[in-house]
Amino acid sequence: MSGARKPVVEVRRSQRRRRTVSAYREGERVVVLIPDQFSRAEESEWVDRMLARLAAREGRLARSDTELSERAARLIDLYLAEHGTQAVPASVRWVTNQNGRWGSCTPADRTIRISHRLRDMPDWVLDYVLLHELAHLIVPSHNAEFWTLVGRYPRTERARGYLEGVAAVGGASSD
Ligand SMILES: [Zn+2]
Repeated sequence: MSGARKPVVEVRRSQRRRRTVSAYREGERVVVLIPDQFSRAEESEWVDRMLARLAAREGRLARSDTELSERAARLIDLYLAEHGTQAVPASVRWVTNQNGRWGSCTPADRTIRISHRLRDMPDWVLDYVLLHELAHLIVPSHNAEFWTLVGRYPRTERARGYLEGVAAVGGASSD
């Protein structure tokens, strides 16, 4: 998270609040709720404090590239083990420049990229997309052999349905 921009902050004062301060994200903004009697100095002090707290909370929750690699290793072990090193990618990483697709694989250099939009989705959906891209290292096209490999994952149909539902709302293909 280098070069993180400072988010737009909206401070809302509440007469009913006495001492409690809270903050949450609302779209691109961060809303900070403070008691009405806070001074300007207290307000700015608390905004900084709540932004730091929010960033710490999200940093702990965010799935890292390391986690992606670990999940991929486990999926290879469970579903693609007999293919040995053929199923092992050179790298697996999160990308933010891939809004039209959930994941992509370049068999030539054995790299896999996963859309950041999957970061907040359930584990079993992320695992389906990972397995899909890993299977492309073995079978590049979407042929019967490919779908047999992917079909070893018990939640393939459910995950595809889930992603189609999200795509219908947000516009991405499940490739
Ligand atoms: Zn595919």
